[in-house]
Parts: sequence; C-alpha cells; structure tokens
Amino acid sequence: MLPKPVKINSANFELSALSLDTCPEWELSEFAFIGRSNVGKSSLINFLCNQDGLARVSSTPGRTREINFFSVNNGAWSLVDLPGYGYAKVSKTDRQLFSEFVSDYLVERPNLVCAFVLIDSRHSPQKIDQEFVQWLVENKVPFALVFTKTDKVSATAVKTNIEAFQKAMAEWSEGEPKIFITSVKKRTGYREILGFVGDAIS
Ligand code: GDP
Repeated sequence: MLPKPVKINSANFELSALSLDTCPEWELSEFAFIGRSNVGKSSLINFLCNQDGLARVSSTPGRTREINFFSVNNGAWSLVDLPGYGYAKVSKTDRQLFSEFVSDYLVERPNLVCAFVLIDSRHSPQKIDQEFVQWLVENKVPFALVFTKTDKVSATAVKTNIEAFQKAMAEWSEGEPKIFITSVKKRTGYREILGFVGDAIS
C-alpha cells in the first residue's frame, strides 16, 4: 500500500470549469474548498500546498465564477477551489447564495469526497454560513468545517464561536460535523486536514 499522502509535494493547476461538462474527465477523488469571500481560502490552499500564489487565479476579478481544479502529488487526488459564496441579487426579489454551477458540482459530481467549508473563527455564527451548511446537509453533500484565522482571537473566543456554531447546527442536523481548526499565520491545522484526506483516499 502506498504511504498516506499527508504531505503535498506538488500541486498543479489543471483547468477552470464553468459548467459540469467542462470539469476534468478523471477518476481522481476531489476535495473542495469553499467559504465566503475573505475567509482565508486562498491563503489556506496556498499554505496546504506550500505554494504561494497557487490559488490566486480564483480570486482574480472576473474569474470568480469558475471552479478551479488542481492535481496533487502527480494525480494522487485533486484539490478543488470553489467560488466564494455570498448573497448575489439575481433579480429584484431573488437572492442567491451561490451559483447553479456550484450547486450542480456539489450535488452531482461523483468525484467529490468532501467539501471543506471555511468559517472565520473570529465571529459568532453568521447566517450566511449557517444557510450554506444547512443546504449541504439537506442535499446530503459530504462536508467538514474548517475554522480559519484562529491566531486573530483568543483560544477561548475560538472555542466559544465553534461551540455556538455546533449548537446552532444541532437544531437542523443530526450528528457532529468534522471540524478543523487552522491558522495560516501560526501554521497550524494542515496536518489534520491532510491526514483526513490521506485516510479518505487510502
Ligand atoms: P479568500 O478571499 O477567502 O481567498 O481570503 P484570503 O486568503 O485572500 O485572505 C483574506 C485575508 O485574510 C488576507 O489578508 C490574508 O492574509 C488574511 N488571512 C488568511 N488566513 C489567515 C490566518 O490564518 N491568520 C491571519 N492572521 N490572517 C489570515
């Protein structure tokens, strides 16, 4: 058996897709990253891959609707950078949290093993994050929560905010979600995330 890839030795950008039928035709297990804008997604992806600037392409204005696929460790698995979510007004009355393509990807892509949902650990539970996670639960999308920027507030505040999120979730979800706690600045949390990926694909 191959050793678990708890370390990323290489991550190569493969392609950007704007629809399900332009996603890569490969068999790789995909691990996707998503969160509201500014949550620290690009920083976390670059940190996990130890490659500055890797995820930058996704936040370039005008390219924010694309899903970006990276091949990790020469095709051992794929890291997928999803567009950030937010309340976009699609008409006078409709609010849309994320695009139909993101929804299609999360619900229909057979390769998806886990969507890592990034949540800013500095805040008490935000409606937008809860709505998104609730949607994942309702649609049976496999996910884990990643609390980011934990160096920016006290450990007590991080714990309080995570517990509040869990408590809010308990009202509409059964079971406890998998949780990761990260800081790019302190370089923490990546072993746990990559260990989880390693376990999932072995
Ligand atoms: P994105 O919009 O979700 O891709 O967010 P970015 O990765 O661009 O991060 C937004 C801002 O938060 C940037 O100024 C980052 O330097 C900062 N940031 C991201 N992660 C951390 C972290 O773990 N600790 C600290 N202190 N700042 C962070």
